[in-house]
Parts: sequence; structure tokens; C-alpha cells
Amino acid sequence: MAEAGSMILNPNFLPEAQRVAAWWYKGGNQQRLTYISHSSSPAGSLRPSQRATSVEISAMSQQAVREQQSYTLICRLGSLQLRKKTHAMPLYYMACLELKDGGSLQCNRRVDETGYCRMCQKSGKVGPRLNVRCRFQDAFGSCWVTVFHPAAEKVLGSTAESIVELSQQSEEICEEALKDTYYDEMLELQLRAKPDTWGGEARTHVTCVGAQRISSREHSRTLLKEIHQLLK
Ligand SMILES: [Zn+2]
Repeated sequence: MAEAGSMILNPNFLPEAQRVAAWWYKGGNQQRLTYISHSSSPAGSLRPSQRATSVEISAMSQQAVREQQSYTLICRLGSLQLRKKTHAMPLYYMACLELKDGGSLQCNRRVDETGYCRMCQKSGKVGPRLNVRCRFQDAFGSCWVTVFHPAAEKVLGSTAESIVELSQQSEEICEEALKDTYYDEMLELQLRAKPDTWGGEARTHVTCVGAQRISSREHSRTLLKEIHQLLK
């Protein structure tokens, strides 16, 4: 607040404040926000992306969706799954980077120790690909989502090559460096929920298909604009 500024609690003499207060007490505090801005849907998806909270994403993984749906989640990286019981979880794998059927998409299949890809039936171009299990946090709670390269590079703010270099130094150095990214930048994630089965039961498979780092200043401006629209 500026030096000459003042903070007014219950500013009932302002007409706008009275309207907000009336809406809030008449049940506005119970309402869910209807977001006015929507992010564009990821490539390949026909339906527009809807804004969701981490709690909704988490609940969705346990339920069954009938058709593929896209969601946008504004959050921060809460933590990474670095261990499973006592074992360190691999954050990347060596993948075949040959182009599929002469197209523009890379194969991305795991290669064996010699660099051979069974799918392409050759030892071609190989490189690290990140595949990380992330817990994303927003104001409502958190959800676990598996994030694949290149969205994982955006989430971690680091290249796969740097992660390989760090993990080759030592597990501890890598873990410490990754922990520095927790609650760092604000993220806008594009998530895709697809019908799936798990142990014979219908479930939803949620994957992260895109990620951008967004400035908190920009995000605050968007939220203020949305509140302004709601008050009109
Ligand atoms: Zn391949």
C-alpha cells in the first residue's frame, strides 16, 4: 500500500462495495466461480479447455469420464515423487528420437542399454526424455499428475540434459536442486482426461499435455478482470 493510502474495512459508503457485500451475503460466498476466460484447447482436442481446480482433477482420476476432455489448471509445483518406497524414482529415460514413419513426431520409445529401439528396429538418434510424477498445488488443494517431456521441462524450468547432468553428480545434489523448484513459478497446465480402465474398473487417465510458466502479476490482472466482469 502507498504511504498516503488507507485501508477501509466494511466500506459501506461506496455503492460498488455495497453491491459486492449484498451479493456475497445473499449466497455469493457459496457460489462457484464461473470463469470467463478460457485457454485454447491443446492440439487434437475438439472441445474447448475448461478451468478446473486441483481438487476436481484429483476427484476425476478416481471417477470415470465418458469422453476425452481438456482442462486448464493454474497452480504451482508442490513436490515431485522422487522415491518409491526406498528406491529413487527415475526422472527420465533414454528415448529413441528417430522420426516416426518419416513424419515430424519423434518415436520417444525407450531404447535398450545399447541404444537399440525395438519399434524402429535400429540404433538411431537417442536422447533423455523426462517423465515425472508431480503434485500440483492451488488454493483448493493438490493433485498428482504424470508429466511427460517437453511439458516436464517447463514445469521444472530445466532441460532434460541438465537433469541428467545433475543426477549423474549425485542423487542428493539432484534432489536438492529439484526441491528448489517447489512453489517457485506459477504454472498454467493443459490437462487431458481420457477414459481408461484400472484393475477392470472404469477410471480416468489424466495427463499433462502442455505447460507454461505465467507471471503472478499477469495472473492477478486476469483474476481482477474476471471479478470486474462478474460485478457488471
Ligand atoms: Zn524408435
